[in-house]
Amino acid sequence: MGLDVGWAVRWLTLSAQAMAEHRVELIELDRPIGDSDHGENMDRGFKAVMDKLAEAPPETPGAALKLTAMTLMSKVGGAAGPLYGTAFLRAATALGSTSDIDAATLATALQAARDGIVARGKAESGDKTMVDAWTPAIEAAAATAGDGDVRKVLLAAAEAAEAGAVSTDPMLARKGRASYLGERSIGHRDPGAVSSALILRAAAGAAE
Ligand code: ADP
Ligand code: MG
Repeated sequence: MGLDVGWAVRWLTLSAQAMAEHRVELIELDRPIGDSDHGENMDRGFKAVMDKLAEAPPETPGAALKLTAMTLMSKVGGAAGPLYGTAFLRAATALGSTSDIDAATLATALQAARDGIVARGKAESGDKTMVDAWTPAIEAAAATAGDGDVRKVLLAAAEAAEAGAVSTDPMLARKGRASYLGERSIGHRDPGAVSSALILRAAAGAAE
């Protein structure tokens, strides 16, 4: 059995909970290498997503992700809003009108999300951005999709994203606000990589 609209709504709900729970942590991560607003941005954005979901319950997973994309683009300021907006929009487009997502489609949608972030932000792996969480995540998803188990794909993606976020610690930032710090960005974890890992962990949690 694949993933349905119930999963998508649970995913977004768990993401909103994670952004609220980790709001201060994300703010603290954004302090030394940014402007201390990432936790605030993400919490505000996902709270708005929850309001939209209550107003107009989506009928397909793709519709849920499209609503999320539009809301994040309009409610999340800074770099992260358009980046996450593009990610959710590309994933929604990849899903189309399907009501039951299989493992291969899931891996394709995650890949589309990552590609959207790269298209929008032009960051490469190793630039110390959310791409360093997403790229290992989609590689892990692609590597596990063949087994046909959506839960396994999501767990692999979440674990890889968490390791990817940790891997940003020694990196020198080459994109976004943190890049202004040059060498001084080394030794700090990228906040967007951490929020990305939280969102992918929520996706796995929603499938349990
Ligand atoms: P801002 O930097 O405008 O204050 P946020 O603090 O909400 O926005 O988000 C910062 C995060 O956005 C960074 O931690 C990084 O992961 C991500 N980011 C910034 N620029 C880029 C980019 N060009 N490509 C990918 N991710 C980026
Ligand atoms: Mg910031």
